[in-house]
Amino acid sequence: MDDVIQVYTNNKGAQSIIYQKYSFRLFRKNKNSGDLVWRCNNKFCSVIVTTNSNINVFIKQNKSKHHHETNEINPELKEIRCAVKRKSKLDLNEKTLKIIRKELCTSSVSADNIDAMRQSMNRERRKLLPPVPVSLTDVLNKVNKSNITSVAWHGFISSIC
Ligand SMILES: [Zn+2]
Repeated sequence: MDDVIQVYTNNKGAQSIIYQKYSFRLFRKNKNSGDLVWRCNNKFCSVIVTTNSNINVFIKQNKSKHHHETNEINPELKEIRCAVKRKSKLDLNEKTLKIIRKELCTSSVSADNIDAMRQSMNRERRKLLPPVPVSLTDVLNKVNKSNITSVAWHGFISSIC
């Protein structure tokens, strides 16, 4: 079953496939035929694979060989990585390790690198939080830009200016 095309979403949300143990990301869509063109995920590799638009039929490959090791990661593990990232953003107070454990116990795979998973979860969380102000002026600018209009806030600001 080497010609099976596995479809998954990578951790940046881009549609990707695994074909003959190599992973590819969507490169472009052929305007005339609607066929999809996929590039090998190894950035130094120029292997390109074309599939039909439903991603269930392999059409062609531009070269016969990748000159590197397979970059395959178990798709189930990839799913878990995506799930824990998503869940870490839904509940910012839940411990990352707890989220990972919950995901892992419902699946058959064993995680290869939990620390890396936790780091990526924390990165995702930081994106949701506003940056820490660097100075008092910075704080005031941010407060002014936000539409806080309560009397208490104005009192507070004039008391520190
Ligand atoms: Zn390649």
